[in-house]
Amino acid sequence: MSFLDELFGLKGKTALVTGGGRGIGQVVAIGLAKAGAEIAIVSRTGADETVGLIEKAGGKAYSLLADVTDEAAVDSALKQILARSGSLDIVFNNAGICIHEDTLKASIADWRQVIDINLTGEYIVARAAGRIMIEKGIKGSIINMASMSGSIVNVPQWQASYNASKAGVIHLTRSLAAEWALYGVRVNSLSPGYIATPMSVDTPQELKDAWMPLIPVHRMGNPEELIGAVIYLAADSSGYTNGSDLIVDGAYTCL
Ligand code: NDP
Repeated sequence: MSFLDELFGLKGKTALVTGGGRGIGQVVAIGLAKAGAEIAIVSRTGADETVGLIEKAGGKAYSLLADVTDEAAVDSALKQILARSGSLDIVFNNAGICIHEDTLKASIADWRQVIDINLTGEYIVARAAGRIMIEKGIKGSIINMASMSGSIVNVPQWQASYNASKAGVIHLTRSLAAEWALYGVRVNSLSPGYIATPMSVDTPQELKDAWMPLIPVHRMGNPEELIGAVIYLAADSSGYTNGSDLIVDGAYTCL
């Protein structure tokens, strides 16, 4: 085994990726598979394309349908993962949405939807996975998708619900990391800056033009630039990294 495989190889591990049908989840799922993990993708509309891409690259993957806000559906998906793969070692808790709207005009229904998917959904998935890992003595790694929006306020678009949800994810992560540390279950969060995905690429050009001067590297990130960060957090070699928020934002939050 090479030194890099020793440090970052995920052979024999099973990784759940929520929202792996497109965007960041798709690219990271393929990366985790290339590092050796078997991938179970959970989304509302399916991830056949991602499964096909992983299989084409010689990896193993399957897709399950569940809404992360539905506790019974998440429990059922995790049961299916245990039955099919025999373990659950890594969770990339990535599913999320964003709504841009002025708070004075926003509906409470929109606020609830964003908090429900981004914060409560991640809580439901992390709790169900943590329960399995603790019951089975699995030294697992849960990686919650946060955002730089959990630490700063984006401009010029207003997105209070999204920012609040991601700040919640960062502190939920610290809370679970402390609570489960003695079981050997690690919980960290990943906070990307602007990443070019379906979520952000459909953004009006004038908004992207306004972002560029605020990003010290003057470009959006690519989803591929998150793969290494997730593999690092997933691998046993990051065993002492726990409760951390790993910011990958082209230095945006330095300004
Ligand atoms: P996309 O919109 O491209 O993908 C989101 C994924 O989440 C889809 O696969 C979608 O699948 C899934 N999803 C959404 N809601 C649910 C739900 N209720 N249950 C299950 N799956 C769901 O987004 P990105 O790839 O851009 O974003 C992924 C994550 O990264 C999000 O948490 C986002 O907040 C975060 N992020 C994104 C940044 C960016 O600039 N793009 C920056 C920082 C963080 P389906 O519709 O089939 O359910």
